[in-house]
Amino acid sequence: MIQLRDRNVTVMGLGRFGGGLGAARFLVAQGARVTVTDLKSADQLADSVAALRGLPLVLHLGGHDEADFRNADLIVVSPAVPKTAPLLALARAAGVPTTSEMNLFLERCPAPIIAVTGSAGKSTTASLLALALAKRHRTYFGGNIGRSLLADLPDLRPTDRVCLEISSFQLDDAADLRWSPRVAVVTNLSPNHLDHHGTLAAYVAAKQNILRFQTAADVAILSADDPEVASWSRLAKGEVCYFSTSKGGMAACGHVSPNAFLDGDEVVLRRDGREDRCPLSDALALPGLHNAANFLAAALAAWIEGVPLQEIAAATRSFTGLPHRLRLVSEIDGVSYYDDSKATTPASAAVALGSFPGRSLIAIAGGYDKKIDLAPLADALTNQARTVLLVGATAPLLAELLAARNHPHVESVETVDRAVERAAEIARPGDVVLLSPGHASWDQFESYEQRGRLFADAVARFASGRAAV
Ligand code: ADP
Repeated sequence: MIQLRDRNVTVMGLGRFGGGLGAARFLVAQGARVTVTDLKSADQLADSVAALRGLPLVLHLGGHDEADFRNADLIVVSPAVPKTAPLLALARAAGVPTTSEMNLFLERCPAPIIAVTGSAGKSTTASLLALALAKRHRTYFGGNIGRSLLADLPDLRPTDRVCLEISSFQLDDAADLRWSPRVAVVTNLSPNHLDHHGTLAAYVAAKQNILRFQTAADVAILSADDPEVASWSRLAKGEVCYFSTSKGGMAACGHVSPNAFLDGDEVVLRRDGREDRCPLSDALALPGLHNAANFLAAALAAWIEGVPLQEIAAATRSFTGLPHRLRLVSEIDGVSYYDDSKATTPASAAVALGSFPGRSLIAIAGGYDKKIDLAPLADALTNQARTVLLVGATAPLLAELLAARNHPHVESVETVDRAVERAAEIARPGDVVLLSPGHASWDQFESYEQRGRLFADAVARFASGRAAV
């Protein structure tokens, strides 16, 4: 482990998600001489900059200075920076080591880590898991969910548990440490972040790092409903457990029965000859089969960590979900407006589109082009949505795909604001208006949170306009 005291450490990428901030604070507390640099300006990073105020560090924002890379003893790189960045090549050529906020934590964490990754459902699964673990353990929750755990290091004890949401970018970096968690949970896999990883194979390889360096004493919890994820059992060094939303979900994998599954309306957990059951409705208030899968994965991990199912259910049943994940924003004139702005992949949006059986859907889709195959989104929109309102950079491409599928009602409306206005005009009582873009937000917004908030604001404006009439 590299000593930090009195060393020149450059934090590359302050960002707005807490990672750069957490790293900078930690490094200062360790006695390092810290420079924080970001391509974005102080204005663009106003919240993060305000949070650093008063700390003894140097800020170089609105661009990078080569000297901060060539003359550093260590560079802490944001997971979003491409590995091919020329300044990193320059640092490497100068013999300067690099690390990440997550790796600084992983190297020092004294407690067992239960980590969750996957293309969709990470935050929901990890949130359910953290609630459940806390029934029996002092639990720390953070990682990709937007909370740096570095500040918790002084309090962490070996008997505690860390519930970590971890992304493919962070797992890519973690391989430098040959690190994998004690319990690894993989929710599912669908193409994502190909603009960053380059190929699907590279994305898969990064995700697989969650179990690549496990030992015989570790556990991998894999989805039996996702053949790709289930096949990763071949990489596991320790026990492999599976979850499935159906009892027979293991047929594809040649196993007899999963360790966590739904038997009708009941959750069943099984391992080492033990079995525990409870009604799903006692444990989970979230809609959709995908959330049942998220619960099964979380419950199995917590159960393996010694929390009885009854206590897991007591901890999770009042969880109403995270913002921007299929959340009901408003009900106006019998029309339900749902914000699923966090659906940033075609697969996530397809899941949301399938969560309203029997109801007529007006779907709002489109956004930043991550170079992902949009056919699954076009199929889901064709099968589930009565009307599709297209927004953002990929609107023309989606319009073509929907025309090829003979979708009868597609309109390009450009902005989310306009989409809400148009949806409100054409909606009938009983309809669902669903913002589930299936794309990242960066073409028109700072973040998916901002996109979701603007959607909710537009709905609220419409509601108050109605009230005034
Ligand atoms: P992540 O942290 O991986 O982005 P979230 O829990 O924040 O995942 O959920 C993001 C979106 O992904 C949700 O709004 C929902 O549409 C979709 N989703 C959640 N869980 C699943 C799942 N198990 N399978 C497929 N899609 C899911």
